[in-house]
Amino acid sequence: MADKCVFLDRDRTIIEDPGYMTDPDAVKLLPGVELALRSLAQVGFKLIVVTNQSAIARGLLTEDGLEQIHDEMRRQLSQRGVELDAIYYCPYHPEGTVERYTRVSADCKPSPGMLLKASKDLQIEMSESWMVGDSPRDIEAGQRAGCRTIRVRHKGDGASEQDEDVQADFTVRNLVDAARVILRESGLAAAVGKMAESPAVSVGAARLPSSAQTPIDSMTDSQTLHEILRHITQTRTPGNGAEFSSARLLGAIFQIFAVIALVWGLIYIPDVMNSGESNLIWHVAMMTAGVLQLAALTFFILSRQR
Ligand SMILES: [Mg+2]
Repeated sequence: MADKCVFLDRDRTIIEDPGYMTDPDAVKLLPGVELALRSLAQVGFKLIVVTNQSAIARGLLTEDGLEQIHDEMRRQLSQRGVELDAIYYCPYHPEGTVERYTRVSADCKPSPGMLLKASKDLQIEMSESWMVGDSPRDIEAGQRAGCRTIRVRHKGDGASEQDEDVQADFTVRNLVDAARVILRESGLAAAVGKMAESPAVSVGAARLPSSAQTPIDSMTDSQTLHEILRHITQTRTPGNGAEFSSARLLGAIFQIFAVIALVWGLIYIPDVMNSGESNLIWHVAMMTAGVLQLAALTFFILSRQR
């Protein structure tokens, strides 16, 4: 019986992309990747990486060097409980500098060659499989291979002309969200939702991974689920980190003027003490400081409630 799988782009989908990755020490998993992949594997998806590696054709990297990078990626994933089923790469590019690799290849995305090979090698049923990647060429390769597609668009990603031509079935912000979509669309959300009913966690419609169909250790699965929920809660909480807040800005401005008014009033204290009489400027300064301080506090409280 054929298996279902998730084809995964490598750079900016699983690991950070420093440009041309040529050093195993630079391999760094993106946040939440292990949780997403673990949950997909638990419900029976094979995990297959398909990556263009034109750095080889350009003479920046050898196939042995690429192997070391992939060994490091596998090692980091394995440490976190994820085993990849296969990695396919395309070393060719028509504008390469290494003759052996300088050519057009049907394996290079957007062509679907790598996916079709994997399908043959590992008995993959394309209609039940997905392609996830951050580039239009990933999406096109997935569509041409007959998979459903998910585009990962990171914060700050601009639009290109290719974006107009290639429309993924779904667009998400990271691999954790992609896993949620796949599980939901695969009809696994209901069983997962049952597990996700934890009074300590509230993430709206988040319905997340589980071992709905595959018998696995329930404790491990529950832990995975809660790790993902925590990840999503952290990344979605408004005001988390240095998010801009106009109320906080106004509070700071009023606070500064309150201090200035207070200092202004303090300057007149010797006069008040010496004369023993009421000083109009001192009164105005202190009242202004009080009003401004109240306004500052109000805006600070408002900013915390948002
Ligand atoms: Mg990529």
